[in-house]
Amino acid sequence: MKVLVTGAAGFIGSHLMERLLARGDDAVGLDWYGDNYPPSIKRQNAAAFADRVVEGDILNVALLDDLFAKHDFEAVVHLAALPGVRPSIAEPGRYQAVNVEGTAQIVDAMHRAGVKRLVFASSSSVYGRNEERPYRETDRVDQPASPYASSKRAGELLLTTLHPIFQIGVTSLRYFTVYGPRQRPEMAIHKFVKAVEEGTPIPMFGNGETSRDYTYVDDIIDGTVAALDRCDERFRIYNLGDNRPVTLRELIDKVGEAVGKEPIIEELEEQAGDVQHTLACIDQAAADLGYAPKVPIEEGLRRFVDWYRAQEA
Ligand code: NAD
Repeated sequence: MKVLVTGAAGFIGSHLMERLLARGDDAVGLDWYGDNYPPSIKRQNAAAFADRVVEGDILNVALLDDLFAKHDFEAVVHLAALPGVRPSIAEPGRYQAVNVEGTAQIVDAMHRAGVKRLVFASSSSVYGRNEERPYRETDRVDQPASPYASSKRAGELLLTTLHPIFQIGVTSLRYFTVYGPRQRPEMAIHKFVKAVEEGTPIPMFGNGETSRDYTYVDDIIDGTVAALDRCDERFRIYNLGDNRPVTLRELIDKVGEAVGKEPIIEELEEQAGDVQHTLACIDQAAADLGYAPKVPIEEGLRRFVDWYRAQEA
């Protein structure tokens, strides 16, 4: 398949590019190598397929038109975004611009070029302050807890609106806390492993009872590729999670086991924008996409630690 992957040099995007290229797809990436974390890390992520990544901003309409004119894309996987809950509180306007206007520009450029299939990276954060778990795709999602979460929900709403007007089939994937090799350096597991390796304290926000549905990146890529292959004229939403909640305290213990050292914990106040718990119901993705996450957290953490040590060596 001839496919455009936006955000190709990022954590998830680089894994997706590798998977698509390995199975023989004609995948082209787009990434601006922005500095929300060190661009050198993104260049490293994309090192194996750098010649297939176009460097540019999804807000650059002329660049998008040029890219779509040069390639006869059958589908787009739109991962490019500013991620992260906490930084979005400091820059709500920038998050809206990149994540909402950026999504509008991508879908508009697809429309002009006649590209009919879109897979969109949404997030578990759209469930916000919802209390009933596991979260289901049919739940109301009108109380996001951070500007990042609002921007992802706004992206979904915009695509709901444009899908029948532009007749573009859309599959929105709500990813639940993704981890694994190349995880962004500011994300919890990456920070925790680094802290335990270096013998510095792990910042634990709250009492450790919050929980997350951590999903290994290979499982996320399985689900994303299955969604891409099955994307048709409909508008659909799927949770991609692991369906096994892990409390923050348990996560810290498991990181300690994976590293082989006792973690030092620094207890801090809960952070604004953080939600208490996440947990995905994955029945819909299982039924329609054959999605079945395989990597338990202990194994995923071991793989992350191996990767982390190889980077540091
Ligand atoms: P990432 O930051 O590693 O990847 C995003 C990539 O998009 C980066 O390489 C960045 O340079 C690029 N990008 C950002 N703005 C751009 C712009 N204006 N033009 C071109 N490129 C731009 O993040 P990730 O963790 O790989 O997340 C990928 C997607 O999945 C994002 O949409 C994110 O919101 C979503 N998501 C991630 C998680 C997670 O746990 N990692 C969870 C839910 C949803």
